[in-house]
Order: sequence, then structure tokens, then C-alpha cells
Amino acid sequence: MKKLIYILFFYITASYSQVSSISPSFIGAGSEEVLTINGTNFGSKNKIEFKNFYGYWNPIYDNQIRSWEDNQIKIWIPYNSTREFKIITTDNVEYLFEGAIIKYNIKNSSYGFGSSSSGSFNYVSRLNLIDDNGLGGYTLTLVGFEGEHLQAFKDAVERWNCVTGINWRIELGTEDDLPDRTSTTTTFDNTEGMCAIGKIKRNSTKEITPEDKNVVYFGEGGVDLPSSAAAAHTNITESCVIEDNTRQYYISYFRIIFKQGNWKYNNLYKTALHELGHALGFGHIGGDIPSIMYPGGGSELSQYDIEGGRNVMAHSLSFSPCQEVKMNRLNTCILNVSDFSLEDLKVIKTNIYNLSGLLILTVKDKINYEDLKSGIYIIENVYDNGRKRIHKIALY
Ligand SMILES: [Zn+2]
Repeated sequence: MKKLIYILFFYITASYSQVSSISPSFIGAGSEEVLTINGTNFGSKNKIEFKNFYGYWNPIYDNQIRSWEDNQIKIWIPYNSTREFKIITTDNVEYLFEGAIIKYNIKNSSYGFGSSSSGSFNYVSRLNLIDDNGLGGYTLTLVGFEGEHLQAFKDAVERWNCVTGINWRIELGTEDDLPDRTSTTTTFDNTEGMCAIGKIKRNSTKEITPEDKNVVYFGEGGVDLPSSAAAAHTNITESCVIEDNTRQYYISYFRIIFKQGNWKYNNLYKTALHELGHALGFGHIGGDIPSIMYPGGGSELSQYDIEGGRNVMAHSLSFSPCQEVKMNRLNTCILNVSDFSLEDLKVIKTNIYNLSGLLILTVKDKINYEDLKSGIYIIENVYDNGRKRIHKIALY
């Protein structure tokens, strides 16, 4: 008996999407920088989604699509994205691509408007910083900081200030400034590596006490921050709808919490740089590039962190969200002057950066100052009485 053999042919009826080029090759997510994707057969009603580093796919919102043609798409990359994206056709066929490397990640907030004449519209806005203290920025109230801890936190604030002009001031507080847990609750929606990110929620029946302070303190694991985290950042953001149905959005106040324990200068300094990065409006970032916002990695700001910080500042200095007063640049980058001879500076396996975060030199044990032009440098792993520190030096 003869067998019937069926041969099936699949015909591809729809042409498939192809990407030929992407620019730029490094880009900020959530920053409103435009990514241009050139190629073929993008269609007109297809969708595009970006993978985030928790493995989920971020939808792209209406105002993030700047233009869509069959051979070119222009978009803003959503907050928390990695470089991977996919185009999904109306027939639900998915095409995966690798796009630009994400160099920093600025917090966004998305809102849906369901009842406009053109149907629903999902809108994303980026985070702003404001003049919260009447002095042009935010005052950070430090509780329980002294000696090396105080120095490390101050140095981290000054480091961000020096390279971005961000207006943060420090005051020393007391136990009375610690958050009252009955007036607010905190939820942590993301713990990655050693850092947790969360939101403060107001308990509507009680006044916030102390009012809206940006408190930095040492807290109890499992109570003030998840027990698996070494430090945490939480904030309250405020937003408003403006006339053209768009939202504006800013940091009202924040808290930074270090888990109580035995913090050394270097560890507290680099953790403070990371948590202050959240207070500046950054989310975490994947490991494609050096960044202090890579959870658990980095000991100094990279050029990408600095570029991202300057992007946030440029945006915040340019307009006033929700009629709040906009932030003012703080220009008080100070070089602490201390007496030591450069020849006496003991370093072991150190990196030397310029103030823009660019790695200038890697040194084994002795810095050859002839290799450096005049300027201000950040030097890691300086040994001072047996302790590792970070030094700034000015060479004339
Ligand atoms: Zn973090």
C-alpha cells in the first residue's frame, strides 16, 4: 500500500521586520533622548517593547513614540530598559533586536488618560528635582552620623555636587528627626543586590512628622529596610495634570537608610554615592557599562553616571514642575586642603579619575605625577593611617 506523504509548505505572507542601523549606540533610558531605528517593514500599527533587567517587557507609551514609518522608528526608551527590544506585528509575530547600550536610567512615571476625544492615551513623564528648602534644592538631615561615617557621606554628597552642580545641603539632625512610622508606611518594590528601592506612602489619618524631611539614618534590617539589603532609598513623588493633559512629576522628599552595622569609610562612601544616585532620579542599571548604579558594583562615579546626573540637572534647571520653584545650581565644590606630600601618598592598585569620571590612569603602587596634566583628580585606595580613603588632588 502506498503511503501518502504530505509535504507542507509555509508561505510567509507578511514581510518580516529588519533593523539595519540604530543610533546613537549609547543612550539614556527615561531621558527623552531619541533613539532612531532604521530598517524595513516596521509597518504602521506594530508595537515595540523593551526588556527590563528583571526579565519583563516594558511597553512603550504613546508619547515615547516620536515617529513611526515603515522604514524608520524614533522613540524615547522607557525607564528600566535594557538594550533588548522587540517589534510585535499586528499578527502577533515578534522580532527580537539588540539596540543601544543603556548608559543611565532616569525614573519615569506613566499615566493613562482614558476619555479624551482621540481615545485612551498613555503618557510618560520624567522626574524633576525642585527647590524644596528655599535655598535652591534639598537639605539632607543626617541622624547618627559622626566621625568616619559623617566624612564618607559628606564626601559622597560633595562628589555628586562637584560634577553635576546638584543642590544638596547637609544638616545634622537628632532622634526627633527620625521618621514616625505611624504617619507613613514604606513599601519596597524592588530589592536588587545590596540596595532596596521603595516608596513612602502617607497614612491619610495622621500628619507627617517630622514634616517632609529628607532623613538619612541607620535603620533596623527587616523594619526600616528589607533585611537582605545593606541600604535603601525611598521617596514621595508628587505630580499634577496640566492643561494639555500631560503630567509633571517631581521628588517631594526622600529617605536614605543604611542598615545598622559596621560600616567602613569606603563602603559607606560608595553606598552613599549609589543611594544619592537614586535621590537624583536614577534607577538601577545593567552591567554593560561601568556605573555606580549597577547594584553591588562600582566604587566611584563613572563618566556615564556623571553624564546622566548632568542630564537630570539640565532638565530640572530648565522648568518648574507643578508651579514649584525650580532647582538652582550649587557651585560650592570644595577641595579640602590638608597637609601631605604627594610623595607620601600611599596607594595600592588604584584608579585615577578626572572630575568627569573618566579613568585616566591605573596605578600599581606609586603614582607618577609626570603622567598627569594640571587638573583635579580623584584617587581611589589611598592608605591613610592604615585606612583606605578616596582623595582629591589638584595638580598645578
Ligand atoms: Zn539601588
